[in-house]
Amino acid sequence: MSSPEAVVLHGIDHLVTMDAERRVLRDAAVVVRDGVIAWVGPTTDVPAPAGARMVDARHRVATPGFIDCHLHASFQLSRGLADEANAREFLIQRMYPYEAALTYDDVVTSALLASRESLLNGTTCFVDPGNQHPQASVDGVARTGQRIVLARSAFDLGGSDFGAVPDALVATPDQAQQQADDLVRTFDGALDGRVRASVSFRGLNNSSDDLIRALGEVAREHRRVLQTHACFSYSTHDASVAKHGTTEIARLHRLGVLDELAMLVHCGWLEPEEIALLAASGAGVVAAPTSSLHNGYGNIAMGHVPELLALGVPVALGTDHACSGPNDLVREMFLVACGYKEVRVNPRVMPPEHALEMATVHAARILGVADELGSVEVGKRADLVLFDTDRPSWQPLYNPVSNLVYSATGNTADMVLVDGEIVVEAGALTRVDETEVLRRGRAVARDLYVRLDGDRLSRALW
Ligand SMILES: [Zn+2]
Repeated sequence: MSSPEAVVLHGIDHLVTMDAERRVLRDAAVVVRDGVIAWVGPTTDVPAPAGARMVDARHRVATPGFIDCHLHASFQLSRGLADEANAREFLIQRMYPYEAALTYDDVVTSALLASRESLLNGTTCFVDPGNQHPQASVDGVARTGQRIVLARSAFDLGGSDFGAVPDALVATPDQAQQQADDLVRTFDGALDGRVRASVSFRGLNNSSDDLIRALGEVAREHRRVLQTHACFSYSTHDASVAKHGTTEIARLHRLGVLDELAMLVHCGWLEPEEIALLAASGAGVVAAPTSSLHNGYGNIAMGHVPELLALGVPVALGTDHACSGPNDLVREMFLVACGYKEVRVNPRVMPPEHALEMATVHAARILGVADELGSVEVGKRADLVLFDTDRPSWQPLYNPVSNLVYSATGNTADMVLVDGEIVVEAGALTRVDETEVLRRGRAVARDLYVRLDGDRLSRALW
């Protein structure tokens, strides 16, 4: 580890705590001991433990580490291979063949690159919806020091109204249940607690009722999140009604899995009764604005994030995948706030504070870790980001939340701590040799491009 047992951040210009009172402290200090936040208060009163590393945080804004509730780490090498595709083409012709071609080593490299980009933008924890090589995802993320909520992806219907899935990705409900249970038992708590397990089925259109019920049992037994993509395009909505006689959310309710363990990604296309079911269920929703904008899903134009928040539904943010944009939750905050202002023609519909709550406290609540992550408070894990306010987008600085959401980008993060360990310093990863990571990333991507006949997928006009 590159950090001593105690770290003192002092002189912080603005500390955005995200505690219950949403306090923003000026000239603040944070003491971290053994990975936990031990003290928060004014710099003038800070009790510095002997031997602590002292970090001068003047000209810095500090926030809790961001939690990306939806990032396919194994899709990092698909950047540029899935442009200008509708929902069906994106999945069936681009991403499923890409995913089926991935080797174990490809996934290690993809996860390492995804984690690198995400961590450098201030994300200290991300949720991976899963792939076929969960150990490889852990191996990649372990290199950077970031947290991961891990899953194994599951489908059991190779052919559906939405299109065909490669055989290599398909499992029976019994197999998927066993694999999900094995994953929780093997990985939950690994890497000194930085790995947390979850349960995942990829989407409702490729999942039978038996599969969804079976995975719901695993989630309930271990009290871990059950994640899936839901309601992300009109075509998935339409296919659900045609095949199951009901909407996607109503189907989950009927199957007994719409509860506080459920985390539903996208949910841009909701019928009024689905909103009511969600509000009564305790389930969490994850909005992914960049993904929708890149593929034209209509999840902002047709979405209901302001209403879900007003109804008390916890809504988090996800970057989804590198092929739709950067792994940068700061950009997602901007897009969810400004996207809704634009489509509703209403500047008051989504204040920046709501966007920041989505990236921190709402995400922690959905993941069942609100007592550990999501805010800077004594007793919580020391996951923090320090932004460099000397950078142009942070000046002038009157309102740090406004600057963060409307002007900044994630790469103005100067220092990032996970469990009190400084994993980003001066805007660079501390654990890995970035030159070596880039060399390896380029080599693996080149090889994958040849295997996938990438010229066919990239669709470049020139
Ligand atoms: Zn996704």
